[in-house]
Amino acid sequence: MTDLDIENYLTFLNSINGDMQKIFEYQKEYIHCKKGCAHCCKQGDYPMSEIEFEYLMSGFNNLEEKTKEIIKNNIENIKKEAKDSYICPFLIDNSCSVYEYRPIVCRTFGVLTEDSKGNPTFPLCTPLGLNFSAIYDKDKKHLSSELYYKGKFKNDPKIFRLSNKVVMNLPLAKKLNIQFGEAKRLIDFL
Ligand code: SF4
Repeated sequence: MTDLDIENYLTFLNSINGDMQKIFEYQKEYIHCKKGCAHCCKQGDYPMSEIEFEYLMSGFNNLEEKTKEIIKNNIENIKKEAKDSYICPFLIDNSCSVYEYRPIVCRTFGVLTEDSKGNPTFPLCTPLGLNFSAIYDKDKKHLSSELYYKGKFKNDPKIFRLSNKVVMNLPLAKKLNIQFGEAKRLIDFL
């Protein structure tokens, strides 16, 4: 990554962080995220682009040797198990060891998004009684308008388009000419 690439990527990340802060503020009635909660890091494939992976690994390279060994061991185990969904190897004691360097997908954890068909996708913690569970119909696995109206919420639950494809095509990404490179699952980079 050149200095210019990294500078532009950091500008982009700052903008994403700002947008996510606004989203979390707007949706705060539905959100239970707190330090030490790591449901989002325990079941996924964590898709990201090359530039995101390079930045993530620059965070890894700054870690103490002992921590790096734990992560390398986690990676080996994930590769052995070869499952599509796994606990992120960078998660140690329910805390992200590379938090400042985490990829974009991790910055969007916890809010309502949509899949490629436009269907709402709930955070992994919703069925566990956390984010958006107040308006979640467990049987139908869907948003419940009945629960929403009963709950007298201030803001409606919004579904945000936050897939990697959408984020990588934001006008700011184009303006900064960010070369994201190929997108893959985390484990395919490791
Ligand atoms: S990189 Fe960090 S925030 Fe992202 S899934 Fe892994 S542990 Fe969680």
